[in-house]
Amino acid sequence: MGPKSIKKIGDTELQLIWDDGHDSRFTLGQLRDQCPCAGCQGETVLLHTYVPAPADKATPGRYDLRDLSLVGSYAMQCAWGDGHSTGIYTWERLRSSCPCDICAALHGSVNSTN
Ligand SMILES: [Zn+2]
Ligand SMILES: [Zn+2]
Repeated sequence: MGPKSIKKIGDTELQLIWDDGHDSRFTLGQLRDQCPCAGCQGETVLLHTYVPAPADKATPGRYDLRDLSLVGSYAMQCAWGDGHSTGIYTWERLRSSCPCDICAALHGSVNSTN
């Protein structure tokens, strides 16, 4: 699975159209705040858990998507206006965090039956 098209919509959204025709739209804010790199999300190495400092969301350029590059055939890497570019977003991760109604209902049904 992978997107057959990735494009920016205006200044605030990124649209991915998947090879099964599904259409995902992420706001750049969502993507940036969910940046999967260790610097943003923290990591656990052996017994040591590293928790990052809270992000300063007022950093100029933070939500400005400057560049996108593909990583192999499984992910994309975003370069942001504040110079941050270590986040690698796998297709799997993007698809499973798709904010559309269909996916929300699908994910919701896991937790909210009855
Ligand atoms: Zn990051
Ligand atoms: Zn979706």
